[in-house]
Amino acid sequence: MKKIQMTTPLVEMDGDEMTRVLWQMIKDELLLPFVDLKTEYYDLGLPEREKTRDRVTVDSANATKKYGVAVKCATITPNKQRVEEYGLSEMWKSPNGTIRAMLDGTVFRAPILIDSIRPAVRNWKKPITIARHAYGDIYKATEYRVPAEGKAELIFTDKCGKETFRETVYDFECAGVLQGSYNKDSSIRSFAHSCFNYALATKQDLWFSTKDTISKQYDQTFKLIFEEIYENDYKEKFAQAGITYFYTLIDDAVARVIRSEGGFIWACKNYDGDVMSDMVSTAFGSLAMMTSVLVSPDGKYEYEAAHGTVTRHYYRYLKGEETSTNPIATIFAWSGALRKRGEMDGLTELVAFADALEAASIKTLHDGIMTKDLVGLVTAGTAATAVTSKEFILAIRERLEKALSA
Ligand code: NAP
Ligand code: MG
Repeated sequence: MKKIQMTTPLVEMDGDEMTRVLWQMIKDELLLPFVDLKTEYYDLGLPEREKTRDRVTVDSANATKKYGVAVKCATITPNKQRVEEYGLSEMWKSPNGTIRAMLDGTVFRAPILIDSIRPAVRNWKKPITIARHAYGDIYKATEYRVPAEGKAELIFTDKCGKETFRETVYDFECAGVLQGSYNKDSSIRSFAHSCFNYALATKQDLWFSTKDTISKQYDQTFKLIFEEIYENDYKEKFAQAGITYFYTLIDDAVARVIRSEGGFIWACKNYDGDVMSDMVSTAFGSLAMMTSVLVSPDGKYEYEAAHGTVTRHYYRYLKGEETSTNPIATIFAWSGALRKRGEMDGLTELVAFADALEAASIKTLHDGIMTKDLVGLVTAGTAATAVTSKEFILAIRERLEKALSA
């Protein structure tokens, strides 16, 4: 079979532990036999981050800015225990955090659905994609445990040192709590552009929700910035694509989401997105079936699985055990990146390959061949056999070969 050609490289970010093992298997069995894979390789595995003093992470983010599409394996975010385990000279920052900050991007998470795993919400038929604004709000708030009676004020001093705002937050007659949080127009704008662009790229409606009726400055600003950017830059493009932008209050959004059949993007403020993404992913089934893509406001894409490096499986693998770790989300990270590369470069064969790879993966699951984590989730009466990661990937390969030669 003639291999599918690529023109521009993909940025490939390798990672750690069990997902690093899966990464190689996916390349060997599902990609290299079919595609003349062009990647610019960055090893974000922890040993290489230590060796380069984390330079490699920065380089990989710069390469993503240059080439526009990246695919990333899960990586360890070091904590104290990892510093000892890997003999690190520093507790290096989360690569995802570094890459997100450098691309100024928004993370979109969507579940992969199969017929035999029913969402906990019966009427959900299509994926719900959550876009979380990962900047500011309570995550960067200043807090104070008020010890006793006293006055709390909100004060703003401008660049010249002139006090331009002062208002009493509360006259405490007893002990209590106090919190000051902020956000920036520039960050909200980037968030909005990423959301509108991603809605266009995936041809899905975009929902956005805040609590602007109560928060008349803070949340209202989010609402107004989204509205302004939509009116100025996206209204016509949305009409052409046949999709809509819909703003509603967060509580109304929650009710509508539960009653919906899915198939849209739900943009959330930082805290709402934190909470709602866990709710939505759990209701759809499994973390191992969640995809994740970082989209920058100027349309650069980095694809990955939402789960981590699956450490517990890796320790079993190191003891010589064949594990049954689910590679689906990592496979879909590759197919997502290859499809995007194909779309950007006008390579229809590459786009078709990405589709075929996803279809073969889903077909394997429909044929009842799956990893252990899914066997427990399928509806009663479905034939399901648990296989190892290797057996599962080989079963996908068999179906992929059949589809491509047909
Ligand atoms: P995790 O790797 O997502 O795994 C947590 C548990 O979820 C696993 O032990 C496993 O449960 C199940 N699981 C997750 N993915 C699975 C898959 N593909 N197939 C089967 N089961 C799967 O989270 P963690 O254990 O909290 O974190 C491990 C490391 O990953 C940490 O060092 C963390 O820093 C890193 N991490 C990286 C990213 C990223 O790079 N984006 C994200 C999150 C975490 P059972 O053991 O019960 O089978
Ligand atoms: Mg959360």
